Amino acid sequence: MYINLPDKVKKIIAVIESAGYEAYAVGGCVRDSLLGREPDDWDITTSASPLQIKALFGRTLDTGIKHGTVTVMMGREGFEVTTYRIDGEYEDGRHPKDVTFTPELGEDLKRRDFTINAMAYNDRDGLVDIFGGTTDIEKKIIRCVGSPRERFGEDALRMMRAVRFSAQLGYNIEEGTRTAIKEMTANLKNISAERIQSELVKLLVSPHPDYLRVCYETGITGMILPEFDQCMATEQNNPHHCYTVGEHILHSLTEVDGDKILRLAMLFHDIGKPETKTTDEEGVDHFHGHAAVGEGITKRALQRLKFDNDTLHKVSRIVLYHDYPVAISAAGVRRAINKTGEDIFPYLFDVKRADIAAQSGYHKAEKLDWLEKIRNIYEMVMDNNHCISLHTLAVTGRDLIDAGMKPGREIGGMLDALLDIVLEDPEKNTKETLMDYARALLEEE
Ligand code: ATP
Ligand code: MG
Repeated sequence: MYINLPDKVKKIIAVIESAGYEAYAVGGCVRDSLLGREPDDWDITTSASPLQIKALFGRTLDTGIKHGTVTVMMGREGFEVTTYRIDGEYEDGRHPKDVTFTPELGEDLKRRDFTINAMAYNDRDGLVDIFGGTTDIEKKIIRCVGSPRERFGEDALRMMRAVRFSAQLGYNIEEGTRTAIKEMTANLKNISAERIQSELVKLLVSPHPDYLRVCYETGITGMILPEFDQCMATEQNNPHHCYTVGEHILHSLTEVDGDKILRLAMLFHDIGKPETKTTDEEGVDHFHGHAAVGEGITKRALQRLKFDNDTLHKVSRIVLYHDYPVAISAAGVRRAINKTGEDIFPYLFDVKRADIAAQSGYHKAEKLDWLEKIRNIYEMVMDNNHCISLHTLAVTGRDLIDAGMKPGREIGGMLDALLDIVLEDPEKNTKETLMDYARALLEEE
C-alpha cells in the first residue's frame, strides 16, 4: 500500500526519524488517502516528546502541549505533530483527565475512535493497520476500535461521529457499534453544545444528510434535538403530503445543496408543525401558523446548540418565510423581497423547491410552475435595480425634514408610505415625484 505524502510531511517525518524517533501520518489523512480523497490536513504521530519535537524544528507553536501536540511550521503551513499517547479516564465524557505518553504506536492507534481512523503510514513501514481499517473500508462500515460501549463511555461524542462518518462516506454502522449507540445515548448529556453542533453540521452538509434518520433511530436526536423526534411522530393526513413531518424533512434535506444555511433551514422549516397541528371534520390535518411557531422553536434550538448569531438569524427567518405567499406580479415579488429581506429571499427558491420535491405529487406541476414564474420576475426586478427597501428610496428622512416635516415618528411612517408607492411602481422612485406625494399626503391629514 503506497500513499503519496506531501513533500512537507515527508520532510517532517525524515527529520524526526533521523533524530532516532518514529513518525507517521495518522488518522483522517491516511483514511482519506486510501479512499482517494484529498485530505484536509495531515496529522503526524510520533514517539518523540513535545520538547524533543520543539528542539528539532525551527518554528513551532505550542498548540496543545499538555496533550502532546506541537504545530510544526513549514513555510506558511502548519502540521500538528502529536506524541504517541494513551488517553486516561474521560472526566466528563469530554476531556481525558490525564494523557500518558507511550513509546508504542499501537497504543496510540488503540485510543482512536474507528478502525478507518486508526491507521498510520510512513514510507519506511508502509501502512500500519492493526484493527482492520482497510477491510472495513472495503466492507464500507464504521466500526469502533475495541469495545464500542467502552469507547462511547469514554467520549459520548463518538456516537455522533459514527453517524457523521457514515453520512460522509455512505457507509453503514457495524451492528455492535450501532447497538452500543442505542444503549449509550444518555451519555450525550455530558457533551458540550459546541462539540455537538460541529458534528451535527458536518452530518447535515454531508452527501447523506438524511442519515439524520440514524440519529433518530438510535436515540441521538432524542438527546440533542427532541424537537425533531416530535416531527417523526407527527402524521400529515393532507393531500399535499405523503410522509410524516420528520420523513418529509429528511427527504427535503437531500433536495438542497450541501450548504450549512440551506440544510439547517430544511431541518427546521416544518419544526413548528407538531405544535400547530389540527384535524378538521373530514379528518384532514392542518398546520396553521406553523412557520411563525417554527421560527421561535428554531431560535431556541439554535441558541441551545450555541450557533452564531448570523446563522441563527438567517435560518430562523428562512423558517418564518418558507411558505410566504408571494403574488405572481412584479409588485408582489418586490413586496415579498421587502418583507423577507434581500438576503433571505434568494434562499427561498431552493427551500421551496426542496419542500415541494418532498411533498406528494398533488398539484406539484402547478407549484413548480408558480415558483418558476416568481424566479423570472425576481431576476427582472434585480436586473432593473428596482427599489425594494428604504436603502434605495429616492427620498430620505433628511429630505422630509428639509421640506419642513417635524423630526419624529411621522417621518418613519411617511417613508414607509412612500416606499409602498415605489414597491407598487418603481418608476415613481424619483425625488421630485415622491416629494409631491409627501406634500399631498401631509395636506390630507
Ligand atoms: P475530519 O477532519 O473530517 O473531522 P478526521 O478523522 O480528521 O475527520 P479529526 O477530528 O480531525 O477527524 O481527528 C483526527 C483523528 O483523531 C481522527 O481520525 C481519529 O483518529 C482521532 N480522533 C478525533 N476525535 C476523536 C475522538 N473523539 N475519539 C477518538 N479519536 C478521535
Ligand atoms: Mg481532521
